Amino acid sequence: MPSQTANFYTVNHSNYPIKTIGILGGGQLGLMLAQAALPLGIRCVFLEDSPNCPARLLGQVFSSEQFDEFSQSCDIFTLEFENTPLKPAQVLESTKQLYPSSFALSVAQDRLNEKNLFNQLSIATVPFLAVNHKEDIQKAITTLGLPLVLKTSRGGYDGKGQFVLKTADQMDTAWAELGEATKTAPLIAEGFINFEREVSIIAVRGQTGEIRYYPLAQNEHHDGILAKSTVPAPNTEHLTQQAQHNIKKLLEHLNYVGVLTLELFVTPDGLLANEIAPRVHNSGHWSIEGAVCSQFENHIRAVAGLPLGDTSITKPSVMLNVIGKYPVLADVLAIEGVHVHNYDKAEREGRKIAHITVMPSDSSQLEAAVSQVAALLSTTHQAHS
Ligand code: AMP
Repeated sequence: MPSQTANFYTVNHSNYPIKTIGILGGGQLGLMLAQAALPLGIRCVFLEDSPNCPARLLGQVFSSEQFDEFSQSCDIFTLEFENTPLKPAQVLESTKQLYPSSFALSVAQDRLNEKNLFNQLSIATVPFLAVNHKEDIQKAITTLGLPLVLKTSRGGYDGKGQFVLKTADQMDTAWAELGEATKTAPLIAEGFINFEREVSIIAVRGQTGEIRYYPLAQNEHHDGILAKSTVPAPNTEHLTQQAQHNIKKLLEHLNYVGVLTLELFVTPDGLLANEIAPRVHNSGHWSIEGAVCSQFENHIRAVAGLPLGDTSITKPSVMLNVIGKYPVLADVLAIEGVHVHNYDKAEREGRKIAHITVMPSDSSQLEAAVSQVAALLSTTHQAHS
């Protein structure tokens, strides 16, 4: 990285193999990666077309028109957004390392690829079928039953691009909403899983092949958006081994470097894999304060070829997303044991704009503190609607 870039401090240590990491995407995950990299003397820059993105607070943002400049500025590349176009990722990869690889990215970008890989690796997943035409929905209903979850196989996030059919006469409406997407890729129809709860496992794999696992998080969604993660997920001792075994198979098959997340449904028959995210994940934000080494730092360490950090939990914690509208900061901070992470994003309905991790020093106070924070957030949600 040229030292004339005035708005960055300059690390001039010959023992730093990686000085600048180029991140595809500039959202809050990029911001938090850069925050974790900073104390290690590693700087991050971003390829992102939205100049007001959260990551701008900590590093230079290059637009896609400045692709070459971005490419030349970095020692190595990673990503914070899995829907990043594959082509530029492959171009970058042809010059310097991209972790995770564009192959891992191509699997994770497509729900059908992802679920086929789960089957290939004998990772139990939800029953599914590809939907290319409207008539395929009827076939899916016959095979998988109702309710039926119809999803775009590409580009969906936070519950977007999904339709739950409760009755067969909703087929037209579902097709009207999602059918257009089949021009680029088939839809996926999934059997509706009456899960007991949702959990995720986050693991990091280093360049030596070493793998470390974070404890399972229990996740609650509202309107398809993650609202709350509890760590460690209660009563999951019997599930941890299966979750670790599954994510290990994925990490090794993909020859993956960095943080990978596997989202799972807990059912009476064990875990069913829902999807992977080839990146740091919202259900791991607790680890900034709640783990010895956060998911963000471990991702930076992995991609920079540094030793991995301790994934142990320091204290039970609950992470609450701030969605749509900010609560009054002083009201939140008046609650003992909270950590606020504001992404500096404009308020907008359904948008993740901050998160709050609750972890009072006396863990017996956790539930009470979470209720207090949740009450402040529900006030803002009501004010918004
Ligand atoms: P996804 O984008 O696949 O993570 O879906 C968002 C949320 O929708 C999940 O976290 C679940 O709460 C719910 N969901 C997704 N797929 C299914 C399914 N096959 N059965 C029941 N609920 C689902």
